[in-house]
Amino acid sequence: MTAQRDASAAPAQVRQGRVSPERTISGNAVAELREAIVAKLAYAIGRTPANARERDWFAATALALRDRIVDACMDSERSIPNKRVYYLSLEFLIGRLLSDAMNNLGLVETTRAALRELGVDLGDVEAAEPDAALGNGGLGRLAACFMESMASLSIPAIGYGIRYDHGLFRQSLEDGWQKEAPETWLAEGNPWEFVRPEATYSVGFGGHVTMSSVSEGVIRRHWHPAETVRAVAHDVPVVGWRGRHVNTLRLWKAEAEAPVDLARFNGGDHVGALAGRARAEAISRVLYPSDSSAEGQELRLRQEYFFTSASLQDLVRRHMAERGDLRSLADHAAIQLNDTHPAIAVPELMRLLLEDHGLNWEDAWHITTNTLGYTNHTLLPEALETWPVELMERVLPRHMQIIYLINWMHLEEQGKHGRGNAAQLASVSLIDESHGKRVRMGHLAFLGARRVNGVSALHTDLMRSTVFKDLHALDTDKIVNKTNGITFRRWLHNANPELTALAIEAVGPEVLDTPELLTGLADVASDPNFQSRYAAMRRSRKAALANVVTERTGIAIDPSALFDVQIKRIHEYKRQLLNVIETVALYQAIKADPKRDWTPRVKIFGGKAAPSYVQAKLIIKLACDVAKVVNADPDVAGRLTVAFLPNYSVSLAEAIIPAADLSEQISTAGMEASGTGNMKLALNGALTIGTLDGANIEIRDHVGPENIFIFGLDAAGVQARMAEPNYAEAAIAASPRLKAALDLIESGRFSPEEPGRFRPIVDDLRHNDRYLLTVDFDDYWRAQRAVDAAWNDPTAWWRAAILNTARMAWFSSDRSMREYAEEIWRVRVG
Ligand SMILES: *Cc1c(COP(=O)(O)O)cnc(C)c1O
Repeated sequence: MTAQRDASAAPAQVRQGRVSPERTISGNAVAELREAIVAKLAYAIGRTPANARERDWFAATALALRDRIVDACMDSERSIPNKRVYYLSLEFLIGRLLSDAMNNLGLVETTRAALRELGVDLGDVEAAEPDAALGNGGLGRLAACFMESMASLSIPAIGYGIRYDHGLFRQSLEDGWQKEAPETWLAEGNPWEFVRPEATYSVGFGGHVTMSSVSEGVIRRHWHPAETVRAVAHDVPVVGWRGRHVNTLRLWKAEAEAPVDLARFNGGDHVGALAGRARAEAISRVLYPSDSSAEGQELRLRQEYFFTSASLQDLVRRHMAERGDLRSLADHAAIQLNDTHPAIAVPELMRLLLEDHGLNWEDAWHITTNTLGYTNHTLLPEALETWPVELMERVLPRHMQIIYLINWMHLEEQGKHGRGNAAQLASVSLIDESHGKRVRMGHLAFLGARRVNGVSALHTDLMRSTVFKDLHALDTDKIVNKTNGITFRRWLHNANPELTALAIEAVGPEVLDTPELLTGLADVASDPNFQSRYAAMRRSRKAALANVVTERTGIAIDPSALFDVQIKRIHEYKRQLLNVIETVALYQAIKADPKRDWTPRVKIFGGKAAPSYVQAKLIIKLACDVAKVVNADPDVAGRLTVAFLPNYSVSLAEAIIPAADLSEQISTAGMEASGTGNMKLALNGALTIGTLDGANIEIRDHVGPENIFIFGLDAAGVQARMAEPNYAEAAIAASPRLKAALDLIESGRFSPEEPGRFRPIVDDLRHNDRYLLTVDFDDYWRAQRAVDAAWNDPTAWWRAAILNTARMAWFSSDRSMREYAEEIWRVRVG
């Protein structure tokens, strides 16, 4: 049998040469680890070195390293921390853990040497690890970066999520059409996790509520669920930098209370006897593959309540064991809700306090609103979660009662303050009555939290002035900004060892602990010797990526061309279509004037579309069809090449980002809450071409406006233009270049076998264009030509690239976590 390789895996040649904090490695340590790996291979996996596959070596290595993590873990858990952070997230987009673990334990070179002595290549072993893709994109990746940073800062924390059997689907492109296949990361088990059957909780659904009178005037309600599902804890240790601290990521698996309905089975209904089990286990079966749009299905609501309830029961039990009194919960626990997916925590915590622990409403509300924090990730109307009241009443009848009571008190309060007019009340109510009755989960999380945060300065301002305007007016201290960040351990040290080595050489090894030292690179930004080594680093990453591109798409790309990269979920607001149309316009321009010295450019796209998102899938198809025509045209050969890399993932991102010269961050201003891909690319020295959106604005402020290419309307400009009638028609009429590109697409030039294929795209732009592509097109073209000119001045280009790396330290997720710790969680760091 051959090792089953993850198709998204970066091949060994792009992953060699990692830098580690180990100055020297000791022969003893190597021998010890080698013995440990061989022992794991034999006794945990049942293989000999002679018959082990790469996947077996990976499992053995992971198990051996896990032992080291457990040792560090015992240290972390020796005393009860004064306060813990509980990070609730429906998604954790982790990627691989082996390189993370080795790097943070300082065992990269030791492991490499130990494996080498066994005749095994570390790069191959790393490539055998499947990505843990328990998330869709930025939101889930943020949760993973935050977990790593909390461990590195020794912030005592537990992450809570769902252990999906199947993570984000595997994307293939069949003649340019996205096809989805199930992802199977657990097919051969997960060596990182510990199953904790002793940490199992019952989570109820449906049923009815009864009342009983406890004493004069005091009534208690009791929920009698119709169905219960068991949540079983699976723990993955998260080891921080230099192994100083270990936290836990606790993922819940859903199991039926009874594996089989024996009465039915014995009655002859062998299939029906398993129906209850299938229904229970469906909860942790698959990740919903949608991004930036809300999922309305009942199963999704069941997932949300399932993991939230299990997590709250777990942390309440821990608190009771440690402190014995729930009244001090807010002093010792900070619960962060990553988006509204766990917003049901508000009524669930109330229910636990009221029903299970007998507190009165005022005390319970005080504890809840001093323990919870809520992070908002989007203002797009289609992404704001609301649940039909009828569904909530059926699935969570007791919670719906609590929500009604919270709302009643909240609206009463408004009346007292003279804010009682109908429009004001409707806008702050937890129930949206505009299209049937629906519960607004964002409003619920807002009321239940002590602090509510946005994820970039612009996004937070827009929260205050748009979606949460009226709620904000009630408590102007509640909304705070916490700009996102990325962990440099993964996105610089592990992904780009060559650049890390350059930084260490220039500013010292302390840069691994103190990213602010990167600013020292500014001193050598104009040094020809340093520039040439920086350029050589990029060139070697590009050569490696070129191999990956050819291997996976059959397209040959030239590493000396400018690598122009747009990698992220495919979504209309992210405007991959703007990039594709500019590609078509550039193609036309080159064909019209082939003698000009065009800047050679390779456009690289990567990203998945939600399986039900028809327009996004058509955009992928257009990019692939344009690629086919452009790449086959001898008139543009060597000047323009287009490639769409399938199955974008964390591992693939780690291979692409160090090879990028240009980073496309071109969302419609006001629509990307923050972005974190923009940070990873700028840190690795790609220059950004972008709009004044999300964290792009703060990136510009840090790297300097002369080291970034900004174009297009700002958020206020977008709002104003959207209010004008027929803005798209006017913009197309004013731009012959845009008109020609759209006409060419519409003519069927890229889809001769189906000339009308892309008419829906062009029609939508002409008559609708919600994302203002037509309006921003000309300025985008101008900015792209400024990029061409800049590329042709290598000294200036590399200086700007180095200055990007030098000035991105602020975007470390360590900085984000310190800010959360101080201003939201009030927990000590370190
Ligand atoms: C960082 C990252 C994202 C987020 O990218 P944006 O450009 O901020 O949307 C999505 N997917 C993966 C795999 C990532 O690593």
